[in-house]
Amino acid sequence: MITSWVNSRLSGAGLPPTREGLSEYVLGRLKQVTGYAYGSSNFYGDLFRAKGITSDAVNDLDAFSEVPFTFAEDILKNPYLFLCVSQGDVLRGFTVETLEGEMKQVFFTRDDLERVVDSISSVFDSIGITPNGHVAIVFPSENEWGIPDLISKAAKKSRGNATLVDVPDLEKQISQIEELKPEIIIGSAQQLFFLSAVLQRQGRPLGASPKAVIASHGCVPYILTEKAKAMIDRSWNNLFEYFGITEMGFTVSFDCRVHNGLHLNEVDIYAEVVNPESGEPKAPGEKGELVLTNLSSRAMPILRYRTGYLSSIIEEPCSCGDTLTRRLKVFSSIATDEDLLNQPVVLRPF
Ligand SMILES: [Zn+2]
Repeated sequence: MITSWVNSRLSGAGLPPTREGLSEYVLGRLKQVTGYAYGSSNFYGDLFRAKGITSDAVNDLDAFSEVPFTFAEDILKNPYLFLCVSQGDVLRGFTVETLEGEMKQVFFTRDDLERVVDSISSVFDSIGITPNGHVAIVFPSENEWGIPDLISKAAKKSRGNATLVDVPDLEKQISQIEELKPEIIIGSAQQLFFLSAVLQRQGRPLGASPKAVIASHGCVPYILTEKAKAMIDRSWNNLFEYFGITEMGFTVSFDCRVHNGLHLNEVDIYAEVVNPESGEPKAPGEKGELVLTNLSSRAMPILRYRTGYLSSIIEEPCSCGDTLTRRLKVFSSIATDEDLLNQPVVLRPF
């Protein structure tokens, strides 16, 4: 469903909506973002000079695989070294909490965040949101340009109405969602899982029939397990997964109706899977650590980021009819569902 977004970006660049057009686009962006990061961020300028890499070295994907990895600790140490714009051009920073309680900061310009809004809106459009259709947002409230606001702006762009459902009581949240009769429910996977557990205890499904329930995961270290997916889908129906991480501007991949891997947002993200020990690339379909590069960020592009997520990439065309984008599978290895139910605040990474 993210494909309409990928298609529109390709046609905007004068490229055909084919795998070849997409490959050309991705390589062009990789060259651009590598040169930009080298020339504008202190972190990559120093790193590239130390490794003897020049700004024009990335001529193909093999050359890009010589670019050193970026690790979470690098961002944690000093996120400002990654900035490619002046601090005055940063509209908002987001924080990602590590297990040790340290705050990793990621910065965005206004156009970075507008791009996030546009990609979420393309997801809503592809679900078939109708004019004035309701979107129930099940995330904790934040100030302007925070997650609920980005989703709300996306719903407006798709001519829908968004309502934040953030009362601190699970049963009341369910009642509010049922009153809204939303076409789309979007929330963190954990929160939807908690709400599903309440519905199961009550022995009933949700009293509403949304076209899609979008469970977002990746921004905190909990991955939707098969068991959790089954529980949410049984209570809510029409479950779609959305996987994104803050460091990559949230919009990494989105489910389709076939539910066999999430279609990658390949115009904004370049995904690789590597052996976590050696860093060598894994073949398509093989499991390894997910490594992501942000192709579009203006404030803080991050190259070859070691995400810590165990994943695989599927290259075969999807039977949903979208043959353009590759798909991502992210495997549960972080927190168990029991951990989550018993101790929702402290999550264990693998
Ligand atoms: Zn598909």
